[in-house]
Amino acid sequence: MYIINTCAVTAESGRKSAQIIRRALNRGGCVAVIGCYSQLDPTINEIQGVSYIGGNRDKAAVFRKADELLENSRTRYEESFDLSGPGYESLCIGTQRTDVFSTCRAYVKIEDGCNGRCSYCIIPKVRGPVRSRPVAEIISEVQRLAIKGYKEIILTGIETSAYDYAPLSELINIVDGIEGIERLRFGSLSPNTITDGFLTAAADSRKFMPHIHLSLQSASDRILKLMRRPYNKEQMIKKMEMINTRMPDMLISADFIVGFPTETESDFLQTIDFVNAYGLSHVHAFPFSPRPGTAAASMSGKIPARELKKRNEILIEHSRNVKKRILERYNGESVKVLIESIAKGEYRGHTEDFLETKFTSFTQKKIGDIAEVNISSTDGEYLIGRSE
Ligand code: SF4
Repeated sequence: MYIINTCAVTAESGRKSAQIIRRALNRGGCVAVIGCYSQLDPTINEIQGVSYIGGNRDKAAVFRKADELLENSRTRYEESFDLSGPGYESLCIGTQRTDVFSTCRAYVKIEDGCNGRCSYCIIPKVRGPVRSRPVAEIISEVQRLAIKGYKEIILTGIETSAYDYAPLSELINIVDGIEGIERLRFGSLSPNTITDGFLTAAADSRKFMPHIHLSLQSASDRILKLMRRPYNKEQMIKKMEMINTRMPDMLISADFIVGFPTETESDFLQTIDFVNAYGLSHVHAFPFSPRPGTAAASMSGKIPARELKKRNEILIEHSRNVKKRILERYNGESVKVLIESIAKGEYRGHTEDFLETKFTSFTQKKIGDIAEVNISSTDGEYLIGRSE
């Protein structure tokens, strides 16, 4: 049985989702489709042979129906796609059944949906409004994960910054007190999340790791306004400075959208300057992708595909150079790495500040161990070293 959790965040991810559905159908067996793409695009219902179509509400229903679907894969079910219903709906794959996942890092979803109105984004339409998960539920899930042996928790959501059941600083304090968990991170955060309260909790925490990923999208005020992002460049700079002052060892990575409609060379260069000036440790660069149903899709001034590709490559190149300089600073340093995979005598994992590291070791180690690694070189992507 194939259960395909589709994505619609960009036109490309929608295309890939449809491709994977067709590939699964060609292989035979029972195919169930859930997630954003099916929520968004009713044409998916026209793909012949799919046994089950669900949107984003009650995704777990497909597991409850699995036996029935397998017995008679010709039966076709369609679940309600209404997102206006009850509050946060937990999806516990990988947490209730942690025994089937050999890993030491776990994503804990703390909210669903978004009330934002960014002009390029289809997410509020397919995920509905913000529903935050009660603190008590988060605590019990993290405790369960700790008992299962997970060392690192990533608190995440569709728009993690929109979590409104309690301040994020409270979640930092709570996870800090849960025995067994050694590392805490958040998924992508809006710069508006960076407040004194948040940084105080992060700086006081023994477990909050010195790395933050921000969704910035552009460093041009004109473009940020067209994107309807809830901050401007001055505020972005202020947040970067707050982080650098309170936690000078913190590495910051970010998302940027390249080639938003009407983006000029000068707008683009402001983003490049920002990446260089603030030494971002990693950049996820997304070429603008118009999503039907969003305000940006019908904006004039689209950037030609070739220029879009060129700008994306330029941003990636600058980001690589910045990252290489950061990685080179670690030569001769000792770092702590959570071991996430082992293959042919090579260990891989992330440092506390979220740099990918590969190393060999004199003594045998296992996944989930935190190793002290002496760094001797870098290949521009990874830190490379050796552990005792
Ligand atoms: S805040 Fe994030 S999820 Fe919400 S509309 Fe903007 S980009 Fe989309």
